Amino acid sequence: ALTACSGGGRGGDASGSTDASGSANGFAADATIGISLPWLGTQNWKEADDLFTSKLKDAGFTPLVQAADNKAPQQQQQIEAMIEQGAKVIVVGPVDGKQLGTVLEKAAAAGVAVIGYDRLLENTAAVNAVVQFGSVRTGELQGESLLKGLAARKGNGPYNIELFGGGPADPNAPAFFEGAMKVLQPKIDDGTLKVVSGQTQFTQVATQDWDNSKAQARMDSLLSGSYSDKKIDGVLSPNDGIARAILTSAQQAGQDVPVVTGLDAENESIVSIWQGKQYSTVAKPTDQLVDKTIELIKDLQAGKALPAPSEQVDNGTRKVDVYQLDPVVVTKDNAQEVFAKDPSRLALLK
Ligand code: BGC
Repeated sequence: ALTACSGGGRGGDASGSTDASGSANGFAADATIGISLPWLGTQNWKEADDLFTSKLKDAGFTPLVQAADNKAPQQQQQIEAMIEQGAKVIVVGPVDGKQLGTVLEKAAAAGVAVIGYDRLLENTAAVNAVVQFGSVRTGELQGESLLKGLAARKGNGPYNIELFGGGPADPNAPAFFEGAMKVLQPKIDDGTLKVVSGQTQFTQVATQDWDNSKAQARMDSLLSGSYSDKKIDGVLSPNDGIARAILTSAQQAGQDVPVVTGLDAENESIVSIWQGKQYSTVAKPTDQLVDKTIELIKDLQAGKALPAPSEQVDNGTRKVDVYQLDPVVVTKDNAQEVFAKDPSRLALLK
């Protein structure tokens, strides 16, 4: 990627990045705010699409919300158009974390602030902030939950398991896997977990474009190739859509229900968990992430420096400020508690 502003480290102070974006003096209270989502293929992105539209309006801004159908060139064009339409902030969940450097640097040069949403923006200096649920932490929770589910449902080990990752262009996918493997690798090494296929590298287990049908096809071939005479006890799944695809495949192959993890607390998976099929999910409530993003947008609008970040993460070009929220594991045991204040999800527990 081009890094026109590659000299631009943060310079150690929060005003460095707001200065670079030209927004140190704020902007109009009804300004256009661009929201560029990667696709609408999972429930969290549909929620983000709806919530940004309504909450930005409620806050007095003019929202311009678009989704890119998982195509990086389409997302580049949508961001170009947002710059041309005078957006003051562009919030981006990238299709491909590494493919937006050129257009984001164009945004920065035009005085537009850039906020990464849910996913990291990589290999560019043109990032004012990133808001997300800790991605490595999310993976750790998935790994811990797989172990807990195996002990609870399958008795003593060793356990036969398989591993799945998300879309390789999404910077979250390797981070989720890294977090999960921190927990699982020691148990693979001591023989508690047996990855029967032998596929333990991210590149071997990733699911192109987070496509559920590709995950299902991989699960079908794992089961026919390595499990014709064995039971599969558990599967690490990076999100709920892939979890349901894995469960369908296992059922079609005549396997008992394996322990399968997930992510997003999607409605269909909450029902599956409540029925005792999918073992767990990790909730990362979209409304919390959208609210956090809009807080930062309001600070930028008012010309204020952004608050101190939770941490700084190297995005390949420089350290970027990351504002992190905490993800929560959900199983049948705690679902009512976790969703106590989420009426639409609570209504699924019956
Ligand atoms: C998000 C997940 C989502 C996945 C596929 C990830 O970047 O963090 O919530 O399931 O993309 O859309």
